[in-house]
Amino acid sequence: MACVAAGLLLTGVATGPSAIAAKKKNKGSVKKEAFGKTKDGKAVEAYTLANKNGLKARLITYGAMLTEMHVPDKDGKLGDIVLGHDKLEDYLDGHSYFGVTTGRVANRIAKGRFTLGGSEYTLATNNDPNHLHGGIEGIDKKIWSASLNRSKAGPAVAFSYTSPDGEEGYPGTLKMKVTYTLTNDDELKIDYLATTDKPTPVNLTNHAYWNLAGKGTILDHVLQLDADHYTPVDATGIPTGEILKVDDVMSFIRPTAIGARIDKLAGEPGGYDHNYCLNKKEFGKLSLAARVEESTSGRVLEIFTTEPGIQFYTGNFLDGTEVGKGGWKYEFRNALCLETQHFPDSINHPQFPNTVLRPKQKYTQTTIHKFSTK
Ligand code: BGC
Repeated sequence: MACVAAGLLLTGVATGPSAIAAKKKNKGSVKKEAFGKTKDGKAVEAYTLANKNGLKARLITYGAMLTEMHVPDKDGKLGDIVLGHDKLEDYLDGHSYFGVTTGRVANRIAKGRFTLGGSEYTLATNNDPNHLHGGIEGIDKKIWSASLNRSKAGPAVAFSYTSPDGEEGYPGTLKMKVTYTLTNDDELKIDYLATTDKPTPVNLTNHAYWNLAGKGTILDHVLQLDADHYTPVDATGIPTGEILKVDDVMSFIRPTAIGARIDKLAGEPGGYDHNYCLNKKEFGKLSLAARVEESTSGRVLEIFTTEPGIQFYTGNFLDGTEVGKGGWKYEFRNALCLETQHFPDSINHPQFPNTVLRPKQKYTQTTIHKFSTK
């Protein structure tokens, strides 16, 4: 298939320890705290992972969500580079999927319908006329149980949730485990595992909104994507089924400022919101998919994944009405998402990589976010 064609070597990898790396010699830590209660009184906990270099990731049991990611800039100063909220109530009132674990099926399913094993399934059309990110109460709105994981790589926490048969219209009891490890090599590693008792579509991802400067627009962030192809969509965000070669506007094969050609996207929803087909040499193998660089902070984010696709989204639906951490009004294009996943609406496109998980099979995915400076 075109999109698993020969790989492209991404260049310009930043090296060298951060300024704070030299100072701290501990092995990292995990701190557990209360993070409030849901409207029906269920307790939500926050876990803060700190690695030996002082990087910090904060995760909460509601939505198995990444709420904070503190990484150093080129002067060694820590800054939080993900969008989100300070308080649980702000998440409970509805938000833009900031940092959540998304599913059972991330992204859209056309008209909320699919057929599997001769049966037709109908899901909520919560993104009229389509189904989006697992429905009205997807796994991003569930409380996951947490357990600390022993890992030589760095502090880790594992979140588990069992979605009952029929939840949000999906067939099968789906058991999921998402493990976050903040490695001592300055990586946030996410390992996903799922099993089912009936055939069912599964497509999990993390929906972090990144802003490497920690403020302002992302149009000056420079992006490189190892993808020669993408899946074009109709006006409702559903893939047409084609796999097209990236043209001048869509291509990030060479490092390019996100804002360089964004306004040439004709008829698109205010920016990039596209699934790129990664140039995998071997299906399911971990490889470098994306690299983002921001020059004022010097921060670099590299994303490695086992997944065949990456949804590149430029915060087109942020409009300043959502006020986040520290009172920051999240405006149009204030963040970017790079969601590693299978292609949107795969269940209705047999030519796309398969998303159906069957009993006795294991769904696995690993995605690594590596932080450095330049
Ligand atoms: C989708 C966007 C959507 C956003 C927030 C992204 O994964 O591609 O279309 O607006 O999530 O829900």
